[in-house]
Amino acid sequence: YSAFDKMREQIDRIASQIDFGTGGEHEEVIATYKMFAYDEGWSRRINEAIDSGLTAEAAIERVQQRTRMRMRQIDDPLLADRMHDLEDLSNRLLRIVSGQMSTAAQLGLKRDSILIARNLGPAELLEYDKRRLRGVVLEEGSLTAHVVIVARAMGIPVLGRVRGIRHKVRDGDMLLLNADDKSVIVRPSSAAEEIFQHDLIDRQKKKARYASMRDAASVTTDGVPVTLMINAGLRDDMSALATTGAEGVGLFRTEFQFLISATLPQRERQQRFYRDVLDAAGDKPVIFRTLDIGGDKVLPYLKDEASEEENPALGWRALRLSLDHAGLMKAQARALIEAAAGRTLNVMFPMVSEPWEFDAAKAIFDGQIAFLNKQKKLLPNKIRYGAMLEVPALAETLDILLPKINFLSIGTNDLTQFLFAADRADPRLAERYDWLSPAILRFIRRVVKATEGHDVDVAVCGEMGGRTLEALALIGVGIHRLSITPAAVGPIKAMIRSTNHSDIRAKMDELLNAPTENLRESLTAWANSQGIEIG
Ligand code: PEP
Ligand code: MG
Repeated sequence: YSAFDKMREQIDRIASQIDFGTGGEHEEVIATYKMFAYDEGWSRRINEAIDSGLTAEAAIERVQQRTRMRMRQIDDPLLADRMHDLEDLSNRLLRIVSGQMSTAAQLGLKRDSILIARNLGPAELLEYDKRRLRGVVLEEGSLTAHVVIVARAMGIPVLGRVRGIRHKVRDGDMLLLNADDKSVIVRPSSAAEEIFQHDLIDRQKKKARYASMRDAASVTTDGVPVTLMINAGLRDDMSALATTGAEGVGLFRTEFQFLISATLPQRERQQRFYRDVLDAAGDKPVIFRTLDIGGDKVLPYLKDEASEEENPALGWRALRLSLDHAGLMKAQARALIEAAAGRTLNVMFPMVSEPWEFDAAKAIFDGQIAFLNKQKKLLPNKIRYGAMLEVPALAETLDILLPKINFLSIGTNDLTQFLFAADRADPRLAERYDWLSPAILRFIRRVVKATEGHDVDVAVCGEMGGRTLEALALIGVGIHRLSITPAAVGPIKAMIRSTNHSDIRAKMDELLNAPTENLRESLTAWANSQGIEIG
């Protein structure tokens, strides 16, 4: 009976006590975490260090230090998350061998506590009493961090990347945490507390209003419908279809499943996952985007191949990588086709730069269909194909592409970085170019014009569509479909239901034909004068 056994027992016990629903992505996180706990390589390295004469404590520390050093050289948030899992396990092991069994969690929490930490592992979080824990503030952590995913499943607000917070807060201090606004106030003045309370009530009112609009139609005051769909990528996200009343998933980022997994998801596992997603969507359509990896989304198990690139955003990513890795794409195509047997399958390819790339990608799907047909397998009733327009070059060849596709989705996140030649991940550039710029809006207006006369749905699926003023401008240049983050559905619907379609069309033409430097200001003033709800 070793310390390893004891640690594994603890992990198994924690995992089995999880009581916030099954079938969520947090289960995959826990599974990955467990996999580390049972990792033979890790325990062997520690045992070898002990055999070389170190004490158990020193051996654990040494192995952890080496791992840390190796991982530090890799600049990858997902690997960093796995590193935190390992740190969590190492600390647990250390506590066991040093006989110091209790953790902070076991000391108990006072009521309405906010937990402050440098970082947390998912299992550490699970040890806390969820009824007393009101929030978590971490100095590290990111949106994709495992602990954040688990916290979300537990319904606990988390704020990550708050540098230096541990030194500013003493035990027992009052904190005001607003995870939506990414703010935390330490030892608030009574004025600040009052504002916070007001704000909270305001938010709750708004939330209630948005919730009451769930089943209301998304149409303008002059009766023009605007289809609202959501962006998703995790199984947990699918419940947002019901809570928001969205009409479908306009962008399902399939790479998320690959990113949270420690090893390449095999075809059968992908197929089960896609089928679960379709089941969860019921009658509503789901547009699956094929793998968009590379660039900033590097898979640890493909790491060796993605050699260091000078400009990863312009590099070997998305469809480019998939076409060179036909095996990967074939497996995904087969999994998607099998998962959608007897239903409609919507597939979309990312980063299409030239129409021939679309042809090549579709040929892979055609090949899988022919194969499954020969095997007399049940196929989807219908397959609809689409492309993302996020590389500006594609706009110049739409006449060739449009007859081949059923839908086009404008990815404004990448599109803007390419139009302005401004890295979307560079914080110094984040505020520099406005989505409400003549360049972007004229570009999109031109794309919409090019699609006239073709039987192709045009949508916007970047973050831009989830902001009220930006969405208003998009509707003004002829967009009738938005795929947005679930939290934005309510505010965007409220905006649409207070907008007159022909007025915004005319206004946008006016603003774009003779632009001023600050389009945002002009549009805001106009929207307010029209009584449009822009939040
Ligand atoms: C986009 O580029 O706008 C987009 C929706 O895709 P992603 O953010 O996943 O690159
Ligand atoms: Mg993109």
